[in-house]
Amino acid sequence: MFLPKCFPDELLFCRIIRHFIQSGMTSTNYLEWMFGTRKVSIHPVLTCDIENISQYSRENAEKILYQQTLAPLFFIFMPNQAFNLQKSMISGNSSKALRICQYHKFNYESGLSLKYCSLCARDDLRNCGVAYWHRDHQILGVNTCSTHGILLNVKSVAARQRLDESLLPCCNGDIIYSTETEKEFSIFSKDILNYFSNPGTKLDLSIYKSELYSQGYISKNGRVRRNKLMSDFSKYSEQFSSNCSYNFPKDKNDKKYFSTLLSNTANQHPFKYLSLGFWLFRKLDKLLLAKKYKPPKEKTKRAKSHKLIKLDKNIKHSEKTLKITASVKNQIYALAIRGFHRSAIARRFNISTGSVEHEISQHPGLVDHRKRCKFESRRRRYRLQIIRFRRLHPAALRKDIRKAHDSAFIWLYLYDRTWLERSLPQATKPKPKGRVDWKRRDNELSDKVRRLMVKHKGHLNRTKLDKLLGGHGWMIKQRKKLPRTMTVYNDLKK
Ligand SMILES: [Zn+2]
Repeated sequence: MFLPKCFPDELLFCRIIRHFIQSGMTSTNYLEWMFGTRKVSIHPVLTCDIENISQYSRENAEKILYQQTLAPLFFIFMPNQAFNLQKSMISGNSSKALRICQYHKFNYESGLSLKYCSLCARDDLRNCGVAYWHRDHQILGVNTCSTHGILLNVKSVAARQRLDESLLPCCNGDIIYSTETEKEFSIFSKDILNYFSNPGTKLDLSIYKSELYSQGYISKNGRVRRNKLMSDFSKYSEQFSSNCSYNFPKDKNDKKYFSTLLSNTANQHPFKYLSLGFWLFRKLDKLLLAKKYKPPKEKTKRAKSHKLIKLDKNIKHSEKTLKITASVKNQIYALAIRGFHRSAIARRFNISTGSVEHEISQHPGLVDHRKRCKFESRRRRYRLQIIRFRRLHPAALRKDIRKAHDSAFIWLYLYDRTWLERSLPQATKPKPKGRVDWKRRDNELSDKVRRLMVKHKGHLNRTKLDKLLGGHGWMIKQRKKLPRTMTVYNDLKK
């Protein structure tokens, strides 16, 4: 049994939902059949286990990954992690994939949700017979339909179980027009996503620096003019409505907002690249034509590093390479024992990091000492994060602390559990939850029953009605849990 054919720009997750509805199975049976276990939750925009899913489709895994999930955005804007992410998503290592994308960190406030445009849903219903989830609506930070220019409606998705027959967009959402900038931003983001949805397309991220340089935000020496940059960027971000403002800098004094992105030292979330890209380039064509950034000539750098060495009178050096003399060795040792990073020491003496590592390894016990320093420093930092958070949020539960400081929590749990247990609030007992939200199901079912009873002019008994509802037996065995549905049924039956 193959997955239904993909509609234009449809999410893989949506195809699975439609497939599940068509199959007539219960969600647990379906999950066991498709994934071999019922304990699996399918992520709506970064759906994993694609190799397995592709067996039920006529497309190959790579095509599904690139054209039916949001993965391409992470591939181009997190190039260092692209390989690992692709591997995790194909193989089904969902938790690793989400950790790489830092998905929960950026979606902490909005939770897991899907977005839809009521006008697109209406068009889809007319053209395809079903309203479906569009991939371009799900781009993080985009809140407007690029076709109709209206604000997208948001439907939250339950954290664990994500297979639900009612989980398709509806046509009766609000219609509120967005600003022109928001519409243009959604078109830009959609163009980027579509362009990079072909395997092999890559983007040189240095074009951002190059454009900032040509617009005067980077000086000739390569220094970023942060005050000017953040002041202008904050003004631009005010054109976006508040429902996506948490992704933008808090104010013009948030000077660290672009630090990591411009230093290229760590991966940054696609939203930052999209918003900065739109601000700088406005159109995909301009972005694709942008030139690579050429850093200022080496001359200045060399002059600086030589100056640094000359300051230290004890060091003898030649013009070309620095000999590691006994005096230099002693200084390296002194800095290493104080916990300086090896690359900082290497920069200080204009030698390679490998040479510093070699010198460190020559001193017995120094490597262990540095490991201990690092451990203690990390412990202090993480403890402080927890203490500060508790001081600011005295009523916070353990799970709130973990959500806010996930890395610190996990690290302390593994290496400093006694302190952590002492410092956390009393653990609350978990309340057992029913696996099915019968109140919600009752509400949804009552509408369906009303429609069916009107269609059949009231001539339906409960068995027939239950069959039309999917043959789950709800109208027979579970009728006590469905009071609203039963009232509708009893009122309309003849
Ligand atoms: Zn639309």
